[in-house]
Order: sequence, then C-alpha cells, then structure tokens
Amino acid sequence: MAERQTKIDVKKLFRESPKTPVKLDVQDLKNFVYDMSRCIKCKGCTWVDHTYMPGAQFRTKCPTATRYLFDSYGAYGKMRIGLALAEGKLRWTDKLLEIVYADPLCGACDTGCKRNLDLEIELTLEALRVKAVQDGVGPLPAHKKIVQNIEKNHNSFGSPHENRTKWLAAAKVTPAKKADLLYFVGCSASYTNPEIAQSTARILKVAGTDFMLMPDEWCCGNIVYSVGMVKEARALAQRNIGEVKKTGAKTVLLSCAEGYRMWKVDYPKLLNCATADLGFKVVHLVEYADELIKQGKLKPTKPMPLRVAYHDSCSLSRLSEPWTPWEGERGWMGMVEPRLKRRRGSNGVYTQPRDILQAIPGVSLVEMPRLRENAFCCGAGRGTKEAFPDLARSSAQHRLEEVKYVGAEALVSACPWCKNNFAQAIKEDGNALTAYDISEVIAASLGV
Ligand code: SF4
Repeated sequence: MAERQTKIDVKKLFRESPKTPVKLDVQDLKNFVYDMSRCIKCKGCTWVDHTYMPGAQFRTKCPTATRYLFDSYGAYGKMRIGLALAEGKLRWTDKLLEIVYADPLCGACDTGCKRNLDLEIELTLEALRVKAVQDGVGPLPAHKKIVQNIEKNHNSFGSPHENRTKWLAAAKVTPAKKADLLYFVGCSASYTNPEIAQSTARILKVAGTDFMLMPDEWCCGNIVYSVGMVKEARALAQRNIGEVKKTGAKTVLLSCAEGYRMWKVDYPKLLNCATADLGFKVVHLVEYADELIKQGKLKPTKPMPLRVAYHDSCSLSRLSEPWTPWEGERGWMGMVEPRLKRRRGSNGVYTQPRDILQAIPGVSLVEMPRLRENAFCCGAGRGTKEAFPDLARSSAQHRLEEVKYVGAEALVSACPWCKNNFAQAIKEDGNALTAYDISEVIAASLGV
C-alpha cells in the first residue's frame, strides 16, 4: 500500500509563524544579528567552491584568512565578534580593531556563504566598521589621513587638486564641453595611473564617442565608505550625483572597478534608492568597449602576441550587482517576505573583459584556477593597502603564483588598484611578469 505523503504548506507555515522586522541598513549592526548568529563556521566563505576546487595550492579565496590563519580574521570569526559587540558582550581593543579592518572586503566570503545560506556577510562586515566609527574607535590612523586628504584636496592621495586633469596633456584628446557620456576618471587614474585615463580617452576617441569630464571632479569616496564613515561618504555621493545631474549626462563611465562599485552600488545604498533610479547609467569601460567591439565600432586589429591571465577585480565582478532597497520581515525557517533578490555575485561583469581580450589578435587568454566569484582578491582595495601593506603584498604574491602556475606572461585587470598592487609585488619579487590595465591593452591593439 502506497504511503500517504503529508504536504507541507510552506506559505501557511510562514503566515502563521512569529515575525521579526528585517532591514539591510548597514548603519545599525543590530540589523544583522540574525546573520551573525546563524553562521555555523562551515568555512564556505574561505574555501573555493568544492566543485571547482583546483587542488591544495589554490584552495582558499579569503585573502585575510589565508594571510593570518586565526579564525578571528575569517568571516566566521568576525561574525562571532560582531554578535558579541552588538549584544554588548565585548569591548573594543586595538587588536579587535585591527581584525575588523585587516580585510579588503572583497566579497568572496559573501558569495561563498550564499552558496548554502542566505546570510548577508558583506553587509555585516560593512556594518561592523560603521559601528567602529559610531563607537568612536574607527577608522585607523591611515584611513583618517585619507579622509583628511579628501577634505583638503578632494583626492585620497593629498595631491594638489589643480593637478587632477594633468593627465589630459599627454592624452592628446580634448573632452567635449557637453556630451551624453561623462568619464569619471577617479583619483588613481588622475594622479597615480595617468596611463589608464589616457588609454580610456583614446579608446573613446577612436570609437567616435564624445565624452565630457566632470567640471570639478572630486574623489568618489570609496575608501571613506569602506572604512565605515557613512555620513562623510553620503555627502560625497550627494555632491557627485548632483554634479552629474547638472551636466545632464545620461551615462557615467568609469575605468576604476572600485569607483564603479561605489557609483553603482554604494551610492544608491547610501541614499536608499535603487541603482536603476539614479537617473543615469553607470558603466565600466569594459562593458562599453565590449559593446563597441561587437558592433564593429572598435576594431582591435594590431596583433599583441601575449599569453595573458585575466584577474577579476572584486568590485567589477562579485560586488558589482545593482542595489535595490529592501525591507521586510522574517518568519518560519528564516524565510523573508517580500521576496528578496539576493546579490550572489553571479551577475558581475565577467564575460565582457574576456570577450575583449579574445577579440585581440595574438592574445592568448588563459584562465587561472580561481576565477569569477571564486577569484582571489589582489588585497589592495577599500583602505587595505594603506593600513595593512603586508596583507596587500601577501595577497598579490599569492595571486601571482597562480599566474605563473598557468604559464601566463602578463596579468590583466580592470582597476588601477589591482594593477598597482600587482606591479609593486612583481617589482619587489623580481618576477618576469607584467601587470597591465585592460584599457592599455585595448588602446595598444587599436594602435593609439
Ligand atoms: S560560509 Fe557563512 S555560515 Fe559558513 S563559516 Fe562562513 S560566514 Fe559562517
């Protein structure tokens, strides 16, 4: 006799269960008590997805846990620390502060955790830093210096503000006074990596795309937000968005992955609006150039005989999915309503840079074992290199081992922070590798 199956009415169980309100607002660590308390220390946030596990050498995807080994540095340790802080059971110490900030917030843990559990790990880590600032202990002195630089000179390096457009002289490109596309250059390409700004401008010129610059560009505030200074970051977001609106630009283009994430994800997060409601589109150069190549408007015909590995910059890949404000309630089995589309990192910008590289004659693209959501961060971003240069260096060295493992001659990324960090590690270690930004490779293949 066939056994009768009992049907579970999930909707009814949810309806009848006690509910608690849920907010994804990083301004209150208590909003993430559920997430922190549900961490089971499985370490899915540390290991590369088992299906793709390339062997023991490249088994981890968390730069912090790989460098420091102690559990407190991994997401699982920080969830315990955050919970104890939120419940008033732990007081800040210098060591605790170091643990919270020694972390590039690269999102590997968040996407790893969401393979099994829908816990908001990245938002919790951001909220932990906001709490450090709210409690008067954060950020670290190196971060405070950056914030002072921005306040004084509108750039994170403390360089004279009037030098911001110096890169233009050698670019031999004249931006339009008014155009639909605004190129937001960012601090790095303006001051430390003019080759990226120059290559980007030349690519746009070859494509016949008129572009303008912001009449008075200031820092995007990426590090300010990343270290937990939400009030100051929001002021920069409001100022920069206001400036774009004054120009009437329909698209803001970035060549920096960190800036791209800031404009596309963190500005809307800070202003409690959706990416789609910003009033203009935010695109990275690789999205724009890929489309132009596919339309035949850009023809990369100059051969570049080079075996390259592509590095997925975290802020262009797993951290770049658009933001949509959400509030709801949690009931039976942790289910939430209304439906929450989780940001799992799978819809980052992964295909476009690879398609670009494969469209360049002579370029041989080889994939590293850790790619896409599983990529190993360069370790430089979000205030890490300034406060923890040893962590930034060890992460870059570890990644470069992977480049050598696949036999590539060059490492290509789409962010000045990655290029700089890799280039420095290559120089210090005397490696025979070269680090390029993808804008340089595209420009070279166009012959400009
Ligand atoms: S994957 Fe998630 S649940 Fe597992 S240890 Fe990491 S943070 Fe905790």
